[in-house]
Amino acid sequence: MHITKLTHLCDICEERPAVIRCRVCGRYVCDDDFDHALNVCKACSATLCQVCRERLAVGHCVRCGRLVCRRDSVRVGLSRYCIDCARELGLISEVKNK
Ligand SMILES: [Zn+2]
Ligand SMILES: [Zn+2]
Ligand SMILES: [Zn+2]
Ligand SMILES: [Zn+2]
Repeated sequence: MHITKLTHLCDICEERPAVIRCRVCGRYVCDDDFDHALNVCKACSATLCQVCRERLAVGHCVRCGRLVCRRDSVRVGLSRYCIDCARELGLISEVKNK
């Protein structure tokens, strides 16, 4: 994919020229600050839901510790579980996403 030449500097390091725009936060970042595996900038990859890799996480699963977004987690009382753990624990059928 050809990317039109940008005059921006990377919004993260502010040193190298930005080559790509993060689809999550909209920052323009250099190649070093972009996580190609996840298709988001490094700042976002640190806070991205580890289930869908698309939305920003809102918390950790108390069981497996993964970062999860609102849609991929369920809250049980004060605890948040990722959908996988919730399924294993049989929480999903009981707790409808409110
Ligand atoms: Zn950079
Ligand atoms: Zn980003
Ligand atoms: Zn998610
Ligand atoms: Zn979990």
